[in-house]
Amino acid sequence: MRQAQLTAPKTIEWREEPTPQPGPGELLVRVRAALTCGTDLKTYRRGHPKLRYGPFGHEASGDVIATGRDVKEWRPGDSIMWVQTAPCGECARCRAGSENLCERIFDTIALGAYADYITLPRAIVKRNVFKKPVGLSYIEAAFLEPLSCVVHGWKVLRRANAEHPLPAEVAIVGAGTIGLLHLLYANHAGARATMVARSPERLALARTLGAHATIDAGAQAPDLARAQFAAVIECAGTPEAWRHALALTRPGGRTLMFSGLPSGSEVPLDATRLHYEELTVLGAFHFTPADVRDARELLITRALKLRPLISGVAPLANLTDIFERLDRRAGFKYALIPEPAAPEWV
Ligand SMILES: [Zn+2]
Ligand SMILES: [Zn+2]
Repeated sequence: MRQAQLTAPKTIEWREEPTPQPGPGELLVRVRAALTCGTDLKTYRRGHPKLRYGPFGHEASGDVIATGRDVKEWRPGDSIMWVQTAPCGECARCRAGSENLCERIFDTIALGAYADYITLPRAIVKRNVFKKPVGLSYIEAAFLEPLSCVVHGWKVLRRANAEHPLPAEVAIVGAGTIGLLHLLYANHAGARATMVARSPERLALARTLGAHATIDAGAQAPDLARAQFAAVIECAGTPEAWRHALALTRPGGRTLMFSGLPSGSEVPLDATRLHYEELTVLGAFHFTPADVRDARELLITRALKLRPLISGVAPLANLTDIFERLDRRAGFKYALIPEPAAPEWV
């Protein structure tokens, strides 16, 4: 089997590996579609504080080829969707209810979705693998992980205001895949969304996806402090975007910092506004199994229009070319289809 490995910044190498046999509790899966992700692009550009170099890619769906000993729920031929991690359920953070912050969550991570086959470990098979319905495409099913992150972010946002969990209006800073997923989620939940970004094409796409209004973060930057939103979700991943997100938040409002910044980043925030305007600044990271189940429900009920979020469909062999494109900001999310299947919507 082919497996793509990221061995250093901007260096993807192909390895020919023997197709593995699943161990006890594991599944061997033939990948049918794998999606690029902002996390992959960050890792490609500069490495990742939580992820080692090695097998690359984590958003995918596919078909079970073989099952390990003790696997009762799945059999060869089943079409499945999954997320790449599962909490241990035993550490202090898991026991405290923060399974997304599990101390061992990355110990069992299933990386290597840019490959012909992938093995899913027992921890994931037990909690975070689901049947893919026939009517849901493999490409849509592979959105399970980013959508789980988005679902988690909205839970954090809702929990921060017991009286009005769902904000009537929300601004979303950054119109990459995650920003647009937040937009689709906001539409579905019934919150009016304003998209804030620099790229005119992405703002135009946001409007076709149902954004109520758009703000050009470059040209209209001075207006940001005058815009007043009850809730703001930052997903552009720059210190400037963090500051913009806070500037857009009205007194008493909530600001969710959804994207991670490079290790060691510090962002100066307006202490006067934080205190005297009682702003709630929130972080959201990863997802719990409950978030994954909610995301799966959104996928199988076709609640969100995901197709416009795919910039292109390519054969797996074009992976390096696709990452060079992403690095140049050409497109934002691609589907990679392992050959011999054709590079088409599957
Ligand atoms: Zn991802
Ligand atoms: Zn744990």
